[in-house]
Amino acid sequence: MSLLVTGTIGIDTVHAPTGSAEGVLGGSCAYFAAAASFHSPVRVVAAVGGDWPDDHRKVLEGFDNISLDGLEVRAGSRTFAWGGKYFANMNERETLFTELGVVEEPAPMVPEAYRDSEYVFLANTHPEVQLAFLDQLPDRKLAVADTMDLWINIARDELVMLLEQVDGLVLNDSEALQLTEVRNAVTAARKILEMGPTFVVVKKGEHGCVLAHESGVAVLPAFPAEAHHVIDPTGAGDSFAGGMMGHIAVAGRADLPTIQSALAWGTVTASFTLESFSLDRLASLKRADIDRRMAEFRGAARVG
Ligand code: AMP
Repeated sequence: MSLLVTGTIGIDTVHAPTGSAEGVLGGSCAYFAAAASFHSPVRVVAAVGGDWPDDHRKVLEGFDNISLDGLEVRAGSRTFAWGGKYFANMNERETLFTELGVVEEPAPMVPEAYRDSEYVFLANTHPEVQLAFLDQLPDRKLAVADTMDLWINIARDELVMLLEQVDGLVLNDSEALQLTEVRNAVTAARKILEMGPTFVVVKKGEHGCVLAHESGVAVLPAFPAEAHHVIDPTGAGDSFAGGMMGHIAVAGRADLPTIQSALAWGTVTASFTLESFSLDRLASLKRADIDRRMAEFRGAARVG
């Protein structure tokens, strides 16, 4: 059930109608690991530069269940940095800047002790780095990737190669449209299945998600968050994936019913991320908070 993640550890600057946060801890890998850690132990493999603030490390070290032995500090390099601005509806955002830094360098090495990892999540980063990663994990049982607009724009060929090698893909509806030129999430997901994976999750923000699996289709609503709880949606997608993969790793299988439950755990875990800037809410979260909210979600989403 060992779960490993690679992706970005970022220095984020976020502007939202609810306020701004500058130079805070972010990155796809950081959010994923924090969220997954409430479900399963998680191994992080990522690189940061010499400019990575010590207080960012302390935040990650504060989570039980996150191993940081695969975190490389490259003294002469710069940490990945990202800036984004949310529009009034808090569902859409624009990227203000992306400074790739270490992401343009060779992929970080998977430590010897992590090579037996069975469940692997390739959080958002350059598809070439994601591909280089899979080569280092020959014993994996399941590899799932995330991607986003930037990579579909500048590294589509590498992304297509990656899709032939992973078992699952998680992406949002606008990215699914960009990748397939199909607006309908179910049809887009089915088209992506033809490119290689056995399951595809299309996230639709506040409208939930669609799962296309080789053995069927499933849907799930989002957690019904009230407007005043939505402070900063950054990292919600990565946290969703963290909760989902944490559940799959513990279950030890990825059949349709297991992934369906995993989507619910991912949804509930991510619903906490958007209650604060950066990883602040996750840092104060307890597993019991997730369990309580899961019970609420079960009640709210009951069908039949
Ligand atoms: P999400 O809101 O789940 O899409 O994830 C936002 C996080 O992803 C932020 O904390 C950023 O640091 C990070 N991020 C933004 N753009 C990229 C990118 N192109 N590749 C990898 N990570 C990114």
